[in-house]
Amino acid sequence: MQNEHKLKELICEIGRRLYAKGFAAANDGNITVRLSDREFLCTPTMVSKGFLKPEDICKVDLEGKQLAGTKKRTSEVLLHLAVYKQRPDVMACVHCHPPHATAFAVAQEPIPKCVLPEVEVFLGEVPIARYETPGGQKFADTVAPYVQDCNTIILANHGTLSFGPDLEKAYWNTEIIDAYCKILILARQLGRVNYFTGQQTKELLDLKKRLGYDDVRFRKEGACMCGPSSFDDAYDEFVPEPVAFRRNDAACPSGNGRASAAPDTEELVRLITDQVMAALAGAAV
Ligand SMILES: [Zn+2]
Repeated sequence: MQNEHKLKELICEIGRRLYAKGFAAANDGNITVRLSDREFLCTPTMVSKGFLKPEDICKVDLEGKQLAGTKKRTSEVLLHLAVYKQRPDVMACVHCHPPHATAFAVAQEPIPKCVLPEVEVFLGEVPIARYETPGGQKFADTVAPYVQDCNTIILANHGTLSFGPDLEKAYWNTEIIDAYCKILILARQLGRVNYFTGQQTKELLDLKKRLGYDDVRFRKEGACMCGPSSFDDAYDEFVPEPVAFRRNDAACPSGNGRASAAPDTEELVRLITDQVMAALAGAAV
């Protein structure tokens, strides 16, 4: 078993980073670390993540029953346990509400892929889990269909859940998704987002494989790597539809990878305006 006190100190340190980055307002967010197959450290409820002390950290079992700690464990621990149950390789989980990624969660806008190299390599595809009232098993069940094939999940109308082989890496995934969402929003405001071509994406995924990272797309042989979401099969009654980041170049992998992020309505307005102006010019002759 790892040094429990050192892990508690690291949870406090990651909590301070979450709070300093504005990823967890007030008492928001929670952090867990796997100690063994049966024991997990977790943050307490109603304590700001910016001011945690090692003695505040609780211990729970795989069903969420509190084993140690003077403070009450977070009500959202079942969400983390849903990840540990499916992924023996995962040693830590971070849940919080980083504003840019949470904006995508509120818009229920799928996270576009094939835009930035680091995101392809470190995150890969990021699914959106349907909304459920936080806390409880029904809430935890919302992530179950995706856990096997990703390391970061957007929780619709709520926030993010990221996980990894240690706590720092699990936290980094939260930083990466929020920085990515911020860049996407800024690029969208500039009016255009360019995507990688099929070939450029393939090169990145080859690199990813060489670096030893997993990607759901490695298991979808033949499927276009920058085409529809690999999670489309996992979505059932809740299917997030792209609006702000809809790609126009459906032709994949021969698509040129360049697509406007502007909604089709803008193009339509321009066409109509051109026709009206042409008609007016004709009438004036
Ligand atoms: Zn939350």
